[in-house]
Amino acid sequence: MVAYDRRHIWHPYASALGDAPLFPVVSAEGVRLRLADGRELVDGMASWWSAIHGYNHPALNAAARRQLDAMAHVMFGGLTHPPAVELARRLVELTPEPLQRVFLADSGSVSVEVALKMALQYQRARGQNGRTRMVTVRGGYHGDTFGAMAVCDPEGGMHSLWSGALPEHLFAPIPPAGFARPLVDADTAELADLLAKHGDEVAAVVLEPIVQGAGGMRFHSPAYLARVRELCDEHGVLLIADEIATGFGRTGAMFACDHAGISPDIMCVGKAMTGGYLTMAATLCTDEVAETISRAHGAFMHGPTYMANPLAAAVAVASIDLLTSGPWRDRVAALEAGLRTGLEPARALPQVADVRVLGGIGVIELRTPVDMARVQPAFVERGVWVRPFGKLVYVMPPYVMTADDLALVTAAMVDVVENVHTG
Ligand SMILES: *Cc1c(COP(=O)(O)O)cnc(C)c1O
Repeated sequence: MVAYDRRHIWHPYASALGDAPLFPVVSAEGVRLRLADGRELVDGMASWWSAIHGYNHPALNAAARRQLDAMAHVMFGGLTHPPAVELARRLVELTPEPLQRVFLADSGSVSVEVALKMALQYQRARGQNGRTRMVTVRGGYHGDTFGAMAVCDPEGGMHSLWSGALPEHLFAPIPPAGFARPLVDADTAELADLLAKHGDEVAAVVLEPIVQGAGGMRFHSPAYLARVRELCDEHGVLLIADEIATGFGRTGAMFACDHAGISPDIMCVGKAMTGGYLTMAATLCTDEVAETISRAHGAFMHGPTYMANPLAAAVAVASIDLLTSGPWRDRVAALEAGLRTGLEPARALPQVADVRVLGGIGVIELRTPVDMARVQPAFVERGVWVRPFGKLVYVMPPYVMTADDLALVTAAMVDVVENVHTG
C-alpha cells in the first residue's frame, strides 16, 4: 500500500519524490486511529480541527446512513432538500444575528473564494467599482485556491512562487500576540493607515478572528478584533471573518467573533461543521450584502456541482446538534486546563521559544523547524498522532478526549521536543 502510494499519490504540501514517513490507517474510533499493523494512536489533531466528536460516532454514522437511504446527492439549482434547510437554520441561529444568508460551499477554500466574490460583487453593486482589493494581516491562512492564497501570509503562502499570477492585496502587520493583551492605538495604527490611504480601493478586510491557524498558530485579543470592526465601519469596508478553524467552539466560544461581541458582514465556517465526516463549508452574509448584490446583479455568481450535498449537510446537522446538546463549553475548558498543565514543562526547554494555549488549542513553538523524518515516527512510537509543521508542535484534540489521553498526548509532545528535537 505504502509503495503504491509513494509512486502515485500526492499528499498535502508534499514532494512526489519524497520518502517522508507515511502511516497506513485502517480504522478510527473515538480519539484513536488504528494503523494497519494494529498499533493505536491517540489523535491530537482531530484531522485538522474537524473531528471534534471523535471518530466513528454512532449519531453521525446514523445520520449518514439515514440520508444515504434517502438520497446521496441532488443538484441544488432549482431544487432544495431538508438537510440543506436544517443546516442553514442551525447556522443562522448559532452565528451572530446579522448573518442571515447561507451559501453552502464544498470546502473551506471555496467558502473563502465565495466570501471574496461576495465582497467584490457587493461593492460593485453599490457603484464602488474601484473597491477591488482586500486588506488582510500578515501571518494569515485562508486556503489553497488562488483567491484564498492571495490573502494568505506572503511568505508562509509562498507568494514568490506565484508572483505575477496572484492579485496584489494590502497587508497590515501580524496582530499583536496575546489573547489578554490590552489594546493600544499603536496595535492597529498601520491597519488604520492602510485603510485611510487606500480606503476607496478596498472591498473588505479579511482575517481569522482571535486565532491565526495554519499561518502560525498565534492568538490575538478580542479588543483588537473589535477595533478592526470599528475601522471597517469607519471606511465603508466589509469585514470577512474566516472562522473555518475557530468555529464550533474550538476557542472556548462558539465562534471566535463571540469573544469580541462583534459580527462580521461575511463569515466562513467549515472544518468541524461536519464533525470530520465529509467536506463542506459555508459562507454566511448579512441581508444587506445579499440584497444589495441581488438587486443590482440579479444573482450571486457561484454554484458548485456538489453545492449543499445532502449527505454532508445531514451529517453537519447531526454534528451541530451533538455539539449544542452536549457540554461543549466544559469539555473545551477541560482541554484548555489539561493543555496548560501538560505543556507547561516545555517552557523551560532550551529548544522552546513559546508555549501557548487557548481553548482546545495547545502550541509549543520551537526555535528551529522540526526534522519530520525523525519527529513524526517518534510520536507514533509514543502512541500518539501529532503532526508538527515548521517550528510548531501543536494539537487541537477532539472535544471528547479524556484527561488521561490528553496527558499522554502532552507528555509525548514535551518528551519529543526535549529528546528527539534536539534543536
Ligand atoms: C483549513 C482552513 C481553510 C481552508 O479550508 P479547506 O477545507 O482546507 O479548503 C481556510 N481558512 C482557514 C482559517 C483554515 O483553517
